[in-house]
Amino acid sequence: MHIIDKYTIPTGYLFTTQGSKGPLETLSIGDYGKRYNIKADFLGYHDEIAGVPNVHCMPLSEKWVVTLSTQYGCPMKCTFCDVPNVKWQGNATFDDLKAQLYNAISFFPECRYTERLNIHFARMGDPIFNPTVFEFARWMHTNKRQIAADTGLSIEVLHPVLTTSSPRNLAILEKRLLEWCEIKNEVYHGQAGLQLSINSTSDAQRDVTYQGLQSSLERIAGICDKLHAPVSRKYCLNFAYATGNEIDGDKMRKWFDPAKFMCKITPIHNNTASKANGIETVGGYDSFHPYREPERILKDAGFDVLVFVPSLDEEDGLVTCGNVVLGGSSLKYDEGQIKIHGLKRNK
Ligand code: SF4
Repeated sequence: MHIIDKYTIPTGYLFTTQGSKGPLETLSIGDYGKRYNIKADFLGYHDEIAGVPNVHCMPLSEKWVVTLSTQYGCPMKCTFCDVPNVKWQGNATFDDLKAQLYNAISFFPECRYTERLNIHFARMGDPIFNPTVFEFARWMHTNKRQIAADTGLSIEVLHPVLTTSSPRNLAILEKRLLEWCEIKNEVYHGQAGLQLSINSTSDAQRDVTYQGLQSSLERIAGICDKLHAPVSRKYCLNFAYATGNEIDGDKMRKWFDPAKFMCKITPIHNNTASKANGIETVGGYDSFHPYREPERILKDAGFDVLVFVPSLDEEDGLVTCGNVVLGGSSLKYDEGQIKIHGLKRNK
């Protein structure tokens, strides 16, 4: 697949390619490790995060993250996301997904082994719409040797994560979520993730955030009741927390089972759409203050809670959700050096 643009960002590479229907955007990046950017009492990380330092990422041989676009643009219109600015042209094909993965691996030829490769179906598109994502996840699991033969990269643990906004107009949403849970629990024996984008416990607020294209919380909760107990990690309810969003512990307890679900809180990212729509997490990059109360409410409701804050390097490099160069997000980073332990790269 032809590479259109390749950008050096602090944590790796962001690149665009010419796919079968138009341009796609992909990330191939490192990760800091939990001690720098999360607070999760249930995992033993108790420090409140007051800004995340722009340190070097762990070596890619320990953890590597690839974020794939699953659609050309996105039929959802989340108000905190730049992807809807990209011309909608349908689902990515199997070859589009595979080519993004292989290109992402090819940018670090010196890394021939990784303990963990996370594949996030999250850049452009809501992956729940695209049945090929499910086929591709199954294929990756049974073809790790083929991937190694094709790319030169041996992968110990391959961990795919599907994130969805639970579209209202997808009649087979339940069927798709059940299928992903089967992939997580049975195909990957727990080594896969499911994240449901919730953001607020108020359907009225969610109507604004997702412009009415999301399912009601009642529908999501009804489906969640039918999901089998997770193997290994719990399913994740994701709160990209905008200042003023409602997080109601009683509603959460009524709708979701803390034995099956954990909660993740992140800031709203500072992209073009969020700025235009006046959505922000006031002080969310420098202080733990905005997260303290939502964390307490969700913990009191019985949930394991993880607060994740990106670094400014990650924010400036457009690694965070809702950013997409193809949709008008602009890179703020121009130093050109990748900060990953064991690598020394310049533009
Ligand atoms: S956040 Fe995800 S689902 Fe929403 S518009 Fe952006 S890409 Fe689509």
